[in-house]
Amino acid sequence: MPTRKKQTGDDAADGGENLRIEEVHACTEMVLPPALQGEAEMVALDERADNAQARNSGPPGTGGDGARLAGLKGKLWKPGRTLRVRFLDNPPPRVREQIEKYAHQWEHYANIKFSFGTDPNAEIRITCTPGQGSWSYLGTDALTISRSKPTMNYGWFTEQTAESEFSRTTLHEFGHALGFIHEHMSPAGNIPWNRPAAYRYYMSTQGWTKEQVDSQLFGKYAASQTNASAYDPTSIMHYPVPRQLTNGGFEVGWNTELSERDKTFTRQLYPA
Ligand SMILES: [Zn+2]
Repeated sequence: MPTRKKQTGDDAADGGENLRIEEVHACTEMVLPPALQGEAEMVALDERADNAQARNSGPPGTGGDGARLAGLKGKLWKPGRTLRVRFLDNPPPRVREQIEKYAHQWEHYANIKFSFGTDPNAEIRITCTPGQGSWSYLGTDALTISRSKPTMNYGWFTEQTAESEFSRTTLHEFGHALGFIHEHMSPAGNIPWNRPAAYRYYMSTQGWTKEQVDSQLFGKYAASQTNASAYDPTSIMHYPVPRQLTNGGFEVGWNTELSERDKTFTRQLYPA
């Protein structure tokens, strides 16, 4: 049921059922520069042998069918791992608390612990820099980033941010940190994008280039890579998709919680 999702938080106050296009905040899936991709493959393999199944990593939408694979299976952490998390800047207490709270929700499904603290060797390093959007590197790619630099950013959190938005964005970014890709780029999905409208929208509101729209929005991962047998429009890893950007009224609303398939899939990939 991809076209109806009850809205929550700020949006509900609007009384409208439709996604408000001006409020779509897009997350950027961070792709390593080519110079780091060789190292990324090595650290991923070191971390977990079955990351080898998908070693030909690279950004989607840039190669032939399956020629370049990225994400999901190839960048997972070893189950049972404790990942240290550190804030590199000093966000307001409520922002910090909310990020911690929602990050820990993943621990119910993934055999991974997130330990927040000040360890200089933290694997996941967070900044809350406004104006830079929200983004994260994928899984073990974080190991290739310099220890002084963030692996995850929250660009629109303030003390006034609605609870549902903390839930939506934090769960989503920590999903990337676990190695999960954007669901709208699933090879099993088939979103009827109105491409001219989507280019216009993302280039003007997110400041993206045409190439970034291609890779972040229209790009698809290869089926062999993602294990994605079914497309899940309710996934926390799915973008909101306003109907103004699609044909035929297709719409995906704000997914603010982990879907049932998110939970099942996470248990499979990070078994106890
Ligand atoms: Zn994202």
